[in-house]
Amino acid sequence: MHVRADFAAIVGHTPLLRLRRASAATGCEILGKAEWMNPGGSIKDRTALGLLLDAERKGLVQPGTTLVEGTAGNTGIGLALVGASRGYSSIIVAPNSQSAEKLDALRLTGAEVRLVPPAKFADPNHYVHVSERLVAALNAKAPGSAWFANQFDNTANRDYHAATTAVEIWEQTDGAVDGFVCSAGTGGTLAGVADGLKARKPDVRIALSDPAGSALANFVNHGELKAEGNSISEGIGSSRVTANFKDAKIDTAYSIPDTESVPLLHALLLEEGLCLGGSSGVNIAGAIRLAHELGPGHVVVTILADAGTRYAKKLFNPLFLRSQGLPVPAWLERAFPAGVSAPPVA
Ligand code: PMP
Repeated sequence: MHVRADFAAIVGHTPLLRLRRASAATGCEILGKAEWMNPGGSIKDRTALGLLLDAERKGLVQPGTTLVEGTAGNTGIGLALVGASRGYSSIIVAPNSQSAEKLDALRLTGAEVRLVPPAKFADPNHYVHVSERLVAALNAKAPGSAWFANQFDNTANRDYHAATTAVEIWEQTDGAVDGFVCSAGTGGTLAGVADGLKARKPDVRIALSDPAGSALANFVNHGELKAEGNSISEGIGSSRVTANFKDAKIDTAYSIPDTESVPLLHALLLEEGLCLGGSSGVNIAGAIRLAHELGPGHVVVTILADAGTRYAKKLFNPLFLRSQGLPVPAWLERAFPAGVSAPPVA
């Protein structure tokens, strides 16, 4: 029998998939890590597992500890699921602005979900601060009863990507990877993969693919946190430098508008059978830019972070797309002439 023991044993080791259209357009091999194939549906299963394993090793959690996290959704889904499989319960704090599908997936984990209105990081009502206060309150009542995963500033996140995601990319490309590019939410994926790849090949080129409205691209290129525009993508972009992002070995950054990333997602579904989420579109747009910069014949790797089904009422909804001034391909118009069911359009 060939059997895996549990949830943790099927996190990671994702396929590296050739993106045909992007490769043909650039003369490079553009390859995507199929992270939506993780058991909880996103790359953040890795983060959740990495943070929890680190806490277990350090004796910060024991059976019965409540896991607490503030998250745009995917880390909460991963943490609640891996936690359930290891005997922990979870409380997840998330902004109510996230996609209905993602929040439903979060509720289905059995975690206690606390939704808060979206707020700037400087606001004490930002979901990260709310979750941190919640942990403090639980531990004041019953010392040691709650653990804060703290994905943004707990660098076990970055270290886990260096030890797993980067090593997989290195081995799957037989060391032929010339460039790596992805977006940053916590920055754990980008900084960790950069650490892992640069340790093996110092001249590998690392790029940040940043959605419009995030301050990180300008920070990487000009040293100043400055944002312009906005994006419908979720879980990526930032107004601050997290501990995971700090001193990441990044060579350059691209600011990607939705008008560049979203049409890539529509074409991928129609031509390559891949239904991917918004951050994957931003990542592939960045991979195409990096490939053009490197020139034909190079190998560029990026992250296919989660599936488009998690955002169908936005990304594949003609009404929503039009409300955002984004192009609607003819096949999508034919498939959903009146929009995807119950479109969240004001
Ligand atoms: N893509 C998606 C879909 C995500 O949920 C996240 C994390 N919120 C990211 C990308 C960013 O990954 P990281 O936190 O490692 O920077």
